[in-house]
Amino acid sequence: SPPQQEEEFIFRSKLPDIQIPTHLPLHSYCFQNLSQFHNRPCLINGDTGETLTYSDVHLTVRKIAAGLNSTLGINQGDVIMLVLRNSHQFALTFLGASYRGAVVTTANPFYTSSELAKQATATKTKLIVTQSAYINKINEFAKINKIKIVCTDSSPASSSDEESVVHFSVLTNADEKDAPEVKISPNDVVALPFSSGTSGLPKGVMLTHENLVTTIAQLVDGENPHQYTKYEDVLLCVLPMFHIYALNSILLSGIRSGAAVLIVEKFEITTLLELIDKYKVTVVSFVPPIVLALVKSGESNRYDLSCIRAMITGAAPMGVELEQAVKDRLPQAILGQGYGMTEAGPLSISMSFAKEAMGTKPGACGTVVRNAEMKIVDTETGHSLPRNKPGEICIRGTKVMKGYLNDPEATKRTIDKDGWLHTGDIGLIDDDDELFIVDRLKELIKYKGYQVAPAELEALLISHPNISDAAVVPLKDEAAGEVPVAFVVRSNGSKITEDEIKQYISKQVVFYKRINIVFFVDTIPKAASGKILRKELTARLNEGLVVA
Ligand code: AMP
Repeated sequence: SPPQQEEEFIFRSKLPDIQIPTHLPLHSYCFQNLSQFHNRPCLINGDTGETLTYSDVHLTVRKIAAGLNSTLGINQGDVIMLVLRNSHQFALTFLGASYRGAVVTTANPFYTSSELAKQATATKTKLIVTQSAYINKINEFAKINKIKIVCTDSSPASSSDEESVVHFSVLTNADEKDAPEVKISPNDVVALPFSSGTSGLPKGVMLTHENLVTTIAQLVDGENPHQYTKYEDVLLCVLPMFHIYALNSILLSGIRSGAAVLIVEKFEITTLLELIDKYKVTVVSFVPPIVLALVKSGESNRYDLSCIRAMITGAAPMGVELEQAVKDRLPQAILGQGYGMTEAGPLSISMSFAKEAMGTKPGACGTVVRNAEMKIVDTETGHSLPRNKPGEICIRGTKVMKGYLNDPEATKRTIDKDGWLHTGDIGLIDDDDELFIVDRLKELIKYKGYQVAPAELEALLISHPNISDAAVVPLKDEAAGEVPVAFVVRSNGSKITEDEIKQYISKQVVFYKRINIVFFVDTIPKAASGKILRKELTARLNEGLVVA
């Protein structure tokens, strides 16, 4: 008799799939409905009030595409790195690069020179678009690699002192008629953010035009329970645009739907409250630490926040008490979480924004978006599980990345032969199709939603001559969610101190990757395969069995 077919438990949205125009390149898709709102505000600078209409943005994007091509010699498929704070220039350059058929890799502008250099080398970056504040650290490696630099803020005259640096106006002054006609296929990469995924070092996540168009459409197209933005909306974009969540699920989704996007460069709670009130922001996207700041701010009652109709939070778990506290503060708004992962473009599970919706249940992340599939698999057997049973969350669909840049092995470990993206998160689906995240299987540490890859810090620690072995794990922290702490084995005879180790790391990494505590140990617990037994170390921490 034939082998018995195993039952698969696959979860989908309750609504039927929609037609997604995945044949369109990302920028064409974003501007597809332009004629309906070309005179409306598109980008608002929160600091200066400067506002660009949809027509302004569309025109500038074509000029930038022309400038990239004719003035800077950027070809189709070339990589451009953005080292920018949230700004108009970020949005314009990203879309201009898409128009040119180029690929944008995004980096945290606070990265150290060596972090930026690694990413530039891995991606073969040809051009960096940045601000004067970061030119020095970029120059440390850009010259050797012959990377051109465009500076968005200093005056055109002052930036020309440095011959390798040109001013942003060389792009915005180009003639839009010279914007090249490029044949872009849905499978071409357009964005290349970095993520460590389920293990190892940060890797370039190849997101195609089709991936990003799909993910936007899932949120804003058609009759849609996850429709969180319409053209009347004013969306707050305070989360960093170098992360795919703000880039795709706020900025580009906002542009697709004709909303105004309020771009805020720096998070400061009082200024933020003032801006929400001033611009009558209707939809806010936060991470739990911002929600905490809002709830705790003594100032929040001085501002009228009744304009907020919806608040979505994601990137890290939000406690039930915090959720309740913010519900009390914003009683008129639909509140809820979203869950996603860079490798899925990102937002995959989202609360319902339907009028009658109550947001998500306390602690839940919402339901799976349309045109996607989700399953929960037993981490031992790999079999899919029914409702209410926790297991690894897997996602499938055209939103899932093409793969990791130059890393087919890591790609194979993450996307299986049937196309399922293994997220490394443990969750369960309840009787109402809502997803609850219960644990994290993967190595990742999340500091206020920012990724910290333990393997990256371990590699730096081991490179120190006085350290023979090391392991980095998360420690729970009220303000940040998690912070990295290290278990360190000193080399024979070494007396290296905690402070020396902390300083050694701090010099090489962005602030949130700094090691908070060093625990000296004799050995790092490892499996026979050599894999660090991280759960054992976290358990030791949680049980208070270690002292610094
Ligand atoms: P990133 O690729 O930087 O967006 O990180 C994705 C990871 O963040 C996920 O795989 C989860 O571990 C975590 N994450 C995202 N959203 C949530 C959420 N709502 N609750 C808990 N963890 C989350």
